[in-house]
Amino acid sequence: MGTLLMNCDWVVTQDPQRRVLRNSSVRINDGKVDDIGDLRPIPKDDIIDCKGKLLIPGLINTHTHLSMTLFRGYADDLELQQWLEQKIWPLEKQLTGDMCYNGALLGGLEMTRTGTTCFVDMYFHMERVAEAVREAGLRAVLSYGVIDPKEDAGIGRERENTLKLLEHIRSLNEPRLEFAVGPHSPYTCSEETLLWAEELAEKNNTLVNIHIAETRGEQARFEREKKARVAEYLNKIGFLSDRVLAAHSVWLTKSEVKLFGQNGVRVAHCPVSNMKLAGGGVAPLPEMWEAGVPVGLGTDGPASNNGLDMFDTMKTCALVHKAHRWDPTIANAQKVLDMATIDGARSISKEKEIGSIEIGKRADLVLLDARDPNMIPIHGKETVVSNLVYSANGFNVDTTIVDGKILMTDRKPLVLDPEKIASAVDVSVAGLFPK
Ligand SMILES: [Zn+2]
Repeated sequence: MGTLLMNCDWVVTQDPQRRVLRNSSVRINDGKVDDIGDLRPIPKDDIIDCKGKLLIPGLINTHTHLSMTLFRGYADDLELQQWLEQKIWPLEKQLTGDMCYNGALLGGLEMTRTGTTCFVDMYFHMERVAEAVREAGLRAVLSYGVIDPKEDAGIGRERENTLKLLEHIRSLNEPRLEFAVGPHSPYTCSEETLLWAEELAEKNNTLVNIHIAETRGEQARFEREKKARVAEYLNKIGFLSDRVLAAHSVWLTKSEVKLFGQNGVRVAHCPVSNMKLAGGGVAPLPEMWEAGVPVGLGTDGPASNNGLDMFDTMKTCALVHKAHRWDPTIANAQKVLDMATIDGARSISKEKEIGSIEIGKRADLVLLDARDPNMIPIHGKETVVSNLVYSANGFNVDTTIVDGKILMTDRKPLVLDPEKIASAVDVSVAGLFPK
C-alpha cells in the first residue's frame, strides 16, 4: 500500500534540472518516492488531497545543537567567548541525560513543525538525543562534542564517550540515524585529538563534524599562539579532508577557501548565528562555490539563533550576502533553496538518498499551504522559489513526512505530543535555572 500526494498545486523537485511541476502528484511506497507526475490512485493507496499545497523536499539543517532549546532566550546579546565561558559552559556542566532528551524532543517538534526533516547535531548525552530523534521520526547525523579537558585524565573520557555513541548508534540499526566524530573546534582540541578524530572517521567511514574559523577573536588568538591562520594550521597538520564538515568557516582567506576545495572539505554555513554572536565578517560564500566546496545551511543551536526555522535562515542567508557584497544577484533564491536541500545533502554525502524529489530517493517531503496570505500570489515557477525563500516561514508548513512516514498533517503533529513535551521541558528548565 502506498501514499499518494494527489494534485499538488506545485512540486519543487530540486532535481538536477530544478523542475517545478504544476498540478502534479507524488506516490510514496516503502519509504521512497515511487512515482511523480499526473498519477491516478491505485487500489489501497492512502490519498492525501494536496490541492492548494506546495510540495518541497524536506529541509536539511547541517549544523545545530538540538538540546540547547533549553537555553533559548537565556544570555542573549553577548560576545561568543563571554557567552560560552561565562554563561553556556557552566550551565552545560549541570545537564543530565533527561534534560538533553527533553530539549531534543522540543527541538524535534520545532523541526517537524517547520519542515526540517534531517539535521546534523553535536552535543552531550547523545545516546539520549538519539532516543529523542528516533521517537520524533526525524533523520540525523549525531556527534558527541569532544572538548579537551584541562587535566590529561579527562582526554580518555572524551574519547570513550565518542566510541560509546558510535557503538550505540550501530546497535540501534536505524537507517535514519548516523554517527559522526565531533571534535568541537581547533581551539578546544589539541592537534593530537584532531588527528585522532580524523583517523576514527576514516576507519569507520563517517563525517567529522567541527566548528572552524567562527570568529575574529579565535583567528587572532590562533595567529598569536600558533603563528598560523586557523585553516592553514589544519591543513598543515593534515586534518583537512573530504570527511570534514566545517561549521561557520567565516574567517577564511581566498587561499584557505582553495585549500578547502582542494581537500574536499564541506561547509555548514550559519548566517543567523554568525550575525547574532557578531563574530565579525561574513563567510566567503561566492568564493566557496567557485572553489567547488559543497555548502549547506545550518541554524546553529537554538541559544544562538534562537529558532530552528530553516525558512528564516534561508532568507537571512540571501540578505546578508547581498548586503555585504552590494550585489542583489548574489545568493539568489534558487541557490539558497539548494543550500537548504540538495547542497545540504551533498555537504553530508547524502545526495543519493535525500535533498530532492526524485524517483528512488527517500520520501522526506514537506507540504506548505500555498493559500496562506504570505504565499499569494504565485505568478509562475520562479515565484514559487522566491516565495519559499523571501516570504515563507516555517509555520506555513502543513505536512511533514520522513521516510514515507507522516509526522505531521494539517499542522497537527502525529508522532510527538506538544503538551507533554512542553511540560517535560518546564521540569528540565526548573532544574537548570532554580528560582
Ligand atoms: Zn555550533
